[in-house]
Amino acid sequence: MTDIQSLVRPNILALKPYSCARDEFKGEAKAFLDANENPFNGPYNRYPDPRQWALKEKIARIKHVPAERMMLGNGSDEPIDLVYRIFCEPGVDNAVGIAPSYGMYEVDADINHVEYRQVPLDEAFQLHADALLAATDAHTKVIWICSPNNPSGNLMNRAEVTRVLEGFAGIVVIDEAYIDFADTPSWTEQLDRHPNLIVLQTFSKAWGLASVRCGMAFASEEIIGLFNKVKYPYNINLLTQNFVSGQLDHADRKEAWVKTLLSERTRLQQELQALPCVVKTHPTDANFILTQVKDANATYRYLVDCGIVTRNRNSVLLCAGCLRITVGTPEENSLLLEALKAMA
Ligand SMILES: *Cc1c(COP(=O)(O)O)cnc(C)c1O
Repeated sequence: MTDIQSLVRPNILALKPYSCARDEFKGEAKAFLDANENPFNGPYNRYPDPRQWALKEKIARIKHVPAERMMLGNGSDEPIDLVYRIFCEPGVDNAVGIAPSYGMYEVDADINHVEYRQVPLDEAFQLHADALLAATDAHTKVIWICSPNNPSGNLMNRAEVTRVLEGFAGIVVIDEAYIDFADTPSWTEQLDRHPNLIVLQTFSKAWGLASVRCGMAFASEEIIGLFNKVKYPYNINLLTQNFVSGQLDHADRKEAWVKTLLSERTRLQQELQALPCVVKTHPTDANFILTQVKDANATYRYLVDCGIVTRNRNSVLLCAGCLRITVGTPEENSLLLEALKAMA
């Protein structure tokens, strides 16, 4: 069993968190004269619920995770940074991640002066628990796993991930930004079994809400308590809380978008593979296709000249020759395919 408290930075363990007016009194009153707010211009004159309970209760029904095991952030970016600030002593502790993977794990490690150790995936972009565990030492507090992984697009092997969760005495974060596009259960189902697990999800991809900046961390109540201690008290503003709450009433729209994007993903994969400029498409469980072409830089520039922007991953480990292509609308995908067909 992981002793979470022993993983926390001593200053965070000792921290007395800011107690805001909304924490000290909860409930209805005739007059709220406790927070130096302007009494006019409701409802935006009032500080929002620091724990966003109403929104979390709604998310809980959709995600089947209790509201108490949830932290909401300004995108997933916020919990990623908080993981370092809670668990990693700057200049002392380190974190381990797979490579290639999402860039923010390393950027936030650098910002927090935490060593970031990268363990290459194999040729099929799969992780091996032994390799990840071998990269850890007594100062490794966190292992980052992204599944489906960005930029490769594939799910990480479940048995290997379980071996990491069971073989590592620190925190394991599984980033599921693309889980809605994958045909597999979320790791949130395993929270009871693994007290060291944090699962990240986001409204930025399948829900079509990247500009709204709302991400979710799911973990034990103990870990969520640590997030709450360290986050800005009012990190999710009322506009965002209300807007996301309204969007959650239209889960059917999200399901329809995902259905369209999955069938477009299949069409894109088939048609891309048939093109002379394409070497191969990598298997994907996400809303993008890592596509190896004969000349990545030239193809990237050609597409930009056609008004089509893809992500050039040519210089990323194991991604030589690859463009990461997001699945767009049927019209956008046809534009891309026509442009590539017409490439000299
Ligand atoms: C897009 C993406 C996110 C989402 O980040 P937000 O801050 O929630 O927008 C998280 N993780 C990965 C791997 C991503 O690709």
